[in-house]
Amino acid sequence: MDYQSILNEIIQEVTPFLKDGKVADYIPALENVDPEQFAMSITMFDGTQFTVGQADTLFSIQSISKVFTFTLALKFYRSNLYKRIGHEPSGNPFNSLVQLEYEHGKPRNPFINAGAINVTDALINYYGGSDIAYKEVLNFIRSISNNDLITCNEVVATSEMEHGYRNMALANLMKSFNNLDNEVSDVVQMYFKHCSVEMSTNMLSRAMLYLANHGTDPITDKIYIRESQAKRINAVMLTCGHYDASGDFAYHVGLPGKSGVGGGIVAVVPKLMGISVWAPGLNANGNSLVGTMALKLFTSKTGLSIF
Ligand code: GLN
Repeated sequence: MDYQSILNEIIQEVTPFLKDGKVADYIPALENVDPEQFAMSITMFDGTQFTVGQADTLFSIQSISKVFTFTLALKFYRSNLYKRIGHEPSGNPFNSLVQLEYEHGKPRNPFINAGAINVTDALINYYGGSDIAYKEVLNFIRSISNNDLITCNEVVATSEMEHGYRNMALANLMKSFNNLDNEVSDVVQMYFKHCSVEMSTNMLSRAMLYLANHGTDPITDKIYIRESQAKRINAVMLTCGHYDASGDFAYHVGLPGKSGVGGGIVAVVPKLMGISVWAPGLNANGNSLVGTMALKLFTSKTGLSIF
């Protein structure tokens, strides 16, 4: 298939819509990102990349980091992880407090904020401290991306902390239900640090290969997780990766995927490729407006979806 021509067509078709999205202004450090930017990359199992737009530009991966923290927590805790969090779609916005109260402090899944904060808490327990836990999460991201230069933007992390009232509230609520072991501010701080990691679509599409290949990196042969765990992470990405728009994403795109409020989205074509797209303007659900559009065009033009 001529992937390059397809990507070239996609950028032409989506460019008029870049102005329609709205950047995430609730994090002041992200407020000034130019919304009229676009990038899309795919990485094949032999490492070949096809790209269009600003595919080397770094952006805040935000909630895409939840895929990486969930991977590590599932690897270490296996099914015991589900004592703390669920794996059902929430049908609610990513930062909602309401359901968490009704459900006694147990977050629905690892991709809404409460779930990801809880997973971060589990990783702090496993590694024995938030500094070391953050370093290990970063090392994991660097390993799956095969890139040692990836790092976090401290300005964004600090800005999130300064305005993180809702995430602090979620963590406090879980703590009140005895479903958070470490200090609230310590856990939330580490959560913001991994959300503030910066990557490009080239890096992210490469990083998805272990999930497209049953848990093993097809280029380096490193085994990161078991086949059954990769299956479950992909399933949770499909059902929960876009919050209350997860059904819509599955319906229109038809691939396991995860979004972040930095405007990035990752997706997986099982046994074939990792994909990443970036357009900072968001839709009302906090997912990249044009990114979702581009992925929809990609699966329509190529016929590559899991359905
Ligand atoms: N760090 C962001 C937050 O906590 C992540 C949200 C997202 O990307 N959906 O609000």
